[in-house]
Amino acid sequence: MKKLIIIILLCAGITYAGSGQRKIVHLPDLPGYVTLKCDFHLHTVFSDGNVWPTVRVGEAYRDGLDAIAITDHLEYTPKDDFIPVDPNAGWKIAESTAKDFNIILVHGAEITRKMPPGHFNALFIQDASLLAVDSAMDAFAAAIKQGAFLQWNHPGWKAQEPDGIPKLYPIHKQLLEKGWIHGIEFFNDNEYYPLVLTFCKQYNLAVTGNSDNHGVISESYPAPEWPNRPMTLVFAKERTSEALKEAMFAGRTLVYFRDIIAGKEEYAKPFFYKCISVSKPYYENEKNLYFEVTNNSDVPFYLINGKPDTPSSLELSANSVTRVVLSKKVTLPLTYDVKNVMTGENEVLKVELKY
Ligand code: ZN
Repeated sequence: MKKLIIIILLCAGITYAGSGQRKIVHLPDLPGYVTLKCDFHLHTVFSDGNVWPTVRVGEAYRDGLDAIAITDHLEYTPKDDFIPVDPNAGWKIAESTAKDFNIILVHGAEITRKMPPGHFNALFIQDASLLAVDSAMDAFAAAIKQGAFLQWNHPGWKAQEPDGIPKLYPIHKQLLEKGWIHGIEFFNDNEYYPLVLTFCKQYNLAVTGNSDNHGVISESYPAPEWPNRPMTLVFAKERTSEALKEAMFAGRTLVYFRDIIAGKEEYAKPFFYKCISVSKPYYENEKNLYFEVTNNSDVPFYLINGKPDTPSSLELSANSVTRVVLSKKVTLPLTYDVKNVMTGENEVLKVELKY
């Protein structure tokens, strides 16, 4: 009998570990930095979400993320007839599970106001309850006092901006002048706002992309149609909470969702070149050279606008090798626009291929 119980316990242990395997997201590090895959906008039952805080950690682990923030609404707690209101509950409940799973948990909260100013996540705080005050400006001040990173969430959310276009209202300009906005969401769930790239470049802010998930991630982004949730890629000096925070304030980010990468060119360019490599020609005849372009990342790259006599477009599929046949008349490098790497409101990344 004792033996049977031990076997059952062992099986239970194996099932527990086996049912939660971590996916590997193939995205390169940048020189001098590790690429941390993050989701800084998640809800739980402690505001209007439907899951318990520890579920967010398990999801992040399985999705291959490095860091998450639970950001329950401070001002909107529709389940308070059944669940006591505690603005720090997400953090308190998930903190030890995050340690168990090697996920960096960022202490956060969502300051939830009508537009303007709209919704803001305060990240890297110590006590969310101090942010639950009447005036939005006082809430921001309380967050700043705790050293918070303030992220303007979904600035073009149609419920608040019917035309879907983000606008800088006087209060935003005031916040920017004080240095109280540190990042803006480009991706929020399946929406994105190209104008955010202009704002982030103009004011030197971090471009962020998050799920803002209220339900279950695997139901919101079912594979294979949705290979990943929206995420912020943060280029940190090391994989720690402190280094993550430093990188966020320094604006070293890109965002990734489906097959789109967006952000500042200074990060998008080295990111692209770390994803791909070009081989020396492996064969030539009188007319052509033959070589290969390898894409070692999960992001496909769609290269367009090739020059005359070169392939007009190249699709570098994710985790694949693409064969290129090139006329000997052509001199390298080949130049392309990468259609799915957005570096500005009306701008995509320009790259050169050479071996
Ligand atoms: Zn939210």
